[in-house]
Amino acid sequence: MTRDPRFDILFTPVKLGPKTIRNRFYQVPHCNGAGTNYPGMNMAHRGVKAEGGWGAVNTEQCSIHPESDDTLRITARIWDQGDMRNLGAMVDHVHSHGALAGCELWYGGPHAPGLETRTISRGPSQYASEFGTVPGCPGFTYNHAADKDELHRLQQQYVDAALRARDTGFDLVNVYGAHAYGPMQWLNPFYNRRTDEYGGSFENRARFWVETLEKIRRAVDNDVALVTRCAVDTLYGGKGVELGEDGLRFIEMASPYLDLWDVNIGDIAEWGEDAGPSRFYPIAHENDWIRHIKQATNKPVVGVGRYYDPEKMLQVVSAGIVDIVGAARPSIADPWLPRKIDEGRVDDIRTCIGCNVCISRWEMGGVPFICTQNATAGEEYRRGWHPEKFEPAKSDNDILVVGAGPSGSECARVLMERGYTVHLVDKAEKIGGYVNDVATLPGLAEWSFHRDYRENQLQKLVKKNKSGQIALGQKAMTADDVLSYGASRVVIATGARWSSTGVNYKTHDPIPGADAGLPHVLTPEQVFEGKAVGKRVLIVNYDPYYMAPSLAEKFARAGHEVTVATTCALGAYMDYTLEGPNMQRLIHELGINVIGETGCSRIEPGRAELFNLFGDGYKRQYKGTGQLPRKENDSHSWHECDSVILVTGRVSQDGLYRELKARKDEWEKNGIIDVFVIGDAESPRLMADVTFDGHRLAREIEDEDPQHQTPFKREQRAWGTAYVPGQNPDLEWRL
Ligand code: ADP
Ligand code: SF4
Repeated sequence: MTRDPRFDILFTPVKLGPKTIRNRFYQVPHCNGAGTNYPGMNMAHRGVKAEGGWGAVNTEQCSIHPESDDTLRITARIWDQGDMRNLGAMVDHVHSHGALAGCELWYGGPHAPGLETRTISRGPSQYASEFGTVPGCPGFTYNHAADKDELHRLQQQYVDAALRARDTGFDLVNVYGAHAYGPMQWLNPFYNRRTDEYGGSFENRARFWVETLEKIRRAVDNDVALVTRCAVDTLYGGKGVELGEDGLRFIEMASPYLDLWDVNIGDIAEWGEDAGPSRFYPIAHENDWIRHIKQATNKPVVGVGRYYDPEKMLQVVSAGIVDIVGAARPSIADPWLPRKIDEGRVDDIRTCIGCNVCISRWEMGGVPFICTQNATAGEEYRRGWHPEKFEPAKSDNDILVVGAGPSGSECARVLMERGYTVHLVDKAEKIGGYVNDVATLPGLAEWSFHRDYRENQLQKLVKKNKSGQIALGQKAMTADDVLSYGASRVVIATGARWSSTGVNYKTHDPIPGADAGLPHVLTPEQVFEGKAVGKRVLIVNYDPYYMAPSLAEKFARAGHEVTVATTCALGAYMDYTLEGPNMQRLIHELGINVIGETGCSRIEPGRAELFNLFGDGYKRQYKGTGQLPRKENDSHSWHECDSVILVTGRVSQDGLYRELKARKDEWEKNGIIDVFVIGDAESPRLMADVTFDGHRLAREIEDEDPQHQTPFKREQRAWGTAYVPGQNPDLEWRL
């Protein structure tokens, strides 16, 4: 297939000073949890995007000096030869696919806690970071107000890092001033309270940034294109940087030193205003600000706004809002997005659902990232997974997959990509499993992209392979049905359900009186099925993610009086997905009553007994066997309500799998080689993790022990060895 000529403009090159980007697709800097700690992961993850057609591929934030140390969050560093070597692997890989490689020079100030290096950062004034430098702990980290010697030293740190980036082979050197980092702290009066020539007036506040660009330009000359990432509006009015004031003036002032502007909005404490979750922000949500930038500069402009849709990309470039489309999440969900447009395969694009689970992994710190849509994200190097290439089937086995939720549908898709004959069977009328329900919750409609991608691909693959089938709306399969089906391998992906008796992580027991068989008690699934809910709703919540706040929003919007009694902070995990602050605002705005640190001990018609988790006293002592070491919790009180919704815990629906396992002696005579369980049926997890699960099994289904992971390559330093990624096979992980 060939490209629709309407998209031609997206494939025209743009000159960026001394460099030329081949097209209008630019992977903006984004974290992936690799940093320079996992050079193989970084190389392969960025490289596959260059292969997939992105014109430029950037590092994540790359620390210029040990003073900018984000530990326990993993970031890139360009401190020394070792870092250069590690980043060089990425540069070479990106170059080998014809893309430009960019390095984002980062100095965090107090937004970097320095937990590993124990250094102190410098800034225009002294302030405490409003960001959770240690997750959940804003106000924890302070900087030191730089005197003039120190600010020149800091500028020199940028220059030295820029030279190291150039010598590593990077084409683009990007001075990172978005998300309240580095030079933005000098421009922004929220931070900059100086009274010398680096503070006060706009010209003075802009001086540090402009001088730094000037110094870098002098040092690197025309060897690299110079870029700056700039938040043109910090979104807190006149106390910060506003587009119509300092924002556009700065663009005008700094343009002569730059070859490209990389613009966005927001700060670091609420950077979900930039990396907007789909729950709150649609595609192109930054355009009200970004559309003004080109009035202030004649340099090319790249802008972001979760551009997953080629039509929207075309629209912003054709309208001259930006010259180049920037993307982080859409490039993670589909590293081959540009190539698919180029090849006329727009409907094969794996669209980012805007869940921000990728970001959640970086936010919590210390772990490689994952993606809900793209199970291969982060796995390109260590497992050797390519998002678009699959090892052909090793046999002509027929495979039965029971359950077409996120894990079953992904497993079936990858098996079909490999050429297996797959029978995907579900009692539901539609592919998607629980996503079909979740996507009906307020703000979560775009999560259905997960289902849509698989639905479309599976239908195409059945046609292409001329084998297999998707059988929906079937009667629920029993063990007898499976045994007599005629498949040689069986994958059970029957999902999980919310506990109907209130079993929860605190007690591991049901809550007395919690019985979803009764009219006044409901599980979330029963809500989706339409079971009646009274005027006064109590949500008993023991879950840290989206279900309880989403149901609270749903019922509050429908006019119910909603109370949530919650053990953990309501939607605690949503702080990591950047949905937290706006969700809290919404809960407040809708008048939802949240009772924190609260469990439920009993449910009766018309009321539920609640208690404070810490009502059992702080003193503990040994009182003998069978006695509580603390006092009896004396905080119990009754809460009146008409309906109780139990968001207490999830339970794997693994009965079919367990019965098949128990009847193992019948497998052989029925031609069955193996039976596997995946996804929530094995253990309830994030959608990203169960999608990964299905994907993994499909890749490894004829490996030695497919139910359990095949070892991956660890990027680990072994004492006394020269560590070169990929060249120390003896260091590979063995289970
Ligand atoms: P996961 O998140 O692990 O993919 P889901 O709960 O989303 O799990 O999906 C499980 C799917 O399995 C649902 O669509 C459900 O209808 C289907 N299912 C469960 N049990 C059976 C069964 N015995 N026969 C056929 N389909 C089943
Ligand atoms: Fe998009 Fe979610 Fe994947 Fe992040 S994890 S890229 S938000 S689909």
